[in-house]
Amino acid sequence: MVKDEKLKLINEEGTRIDGRRPDELRPLKIEIGVLDKSDGSAYVELGKTKVFAAVFGPREVHPKHLALPDRAILNCRYHMASFSVDERKPLGMTRREIELSKVIREALESVVFLEEFPRTSIDVYIEVIQADGGTRTAGLTAASLALAEAGIPMADLVAAVAVGKIEGHLVLDLCDLEDKYGEADMPVAMAPRLNSIVLLQLNGRLAKEDFRRALEFAKKGITEIYQKQREALRKKYSGVSLMEV
Ligand code: ADP
Repeated sequence: MVKDEKLKLINEEGTRIDGRRPDELRPLKIEIGVLDKSDGSAYVELGKTKVFAAVFGPREVHPKHLALPDRAILNCRYHMASFSVDERKPLGMTRREIELSKVIREALESVVFLEEFPRTSIDVYIEVIQADGGTRTAGLTAASLALAEAGIPMADLVAAVAVGKIEGHLVLDLCDLEDKYGEADMPVAMAPRLNSIVLLQLNGRLAKEDFRRALEFAKKGITEIYQKQREALRKKYSGVSLMEV
């Protein structure tokens, strides 16, 4: 897409279009246990990006012949609501949604102990309610919390954020305009306690030194998100007394 010449994404002082510093996240809100019907659920809001995640399982596999004898199947569906964007979005699953479902599933598979639940499936649904950049990363952040609330054993939570480059500046947590008109967009997801990267994609180009610095930016953002995830989990369970368990 061609950028309007007058549109400045970042000024000389390094202030971005929404007033943030280059290494600043958008306002982050996390809630757990937001849906009744699923075994685990979470809501993540990062600026104007709003995402729900719901988890069912471990439960019986349908159809049965798909069940694996030595581990659970992790199914994942990332979906953007038709009203989540201002353009007309097709009702069915787009190629982009199929691809994102796959990379999100692979990221989650690196932390979930699937071998503990042979012949079952764990189903993760991510529903983007409003999209303003960084929906796959917000979706992953929400999905790992929903898995935690469902009581699925995991090596760590997954926390994720996108980093990128706009008008020559590295920036953390791109909004839609920055994503569209920037030079590069790099979603990163980590299992922070394991210090392990579970998803890394790069759209655009970054020089080697920029890539190294961008990864540092991502780690900083992920540390903040991880902190909030843990706080949200603590808040949910701190009121539960041992008598109730
Ligand atoms: P992510 O949301 O993970 O950053 P993309 O880089 O593919 O994934 O998309 C960036 C942003 O572009 C989205 O968050 C959304 O705001 C916008 N977008 C994506 N798909 C569409 C679409 N079909 N119609 C309108 N906007 C879209």
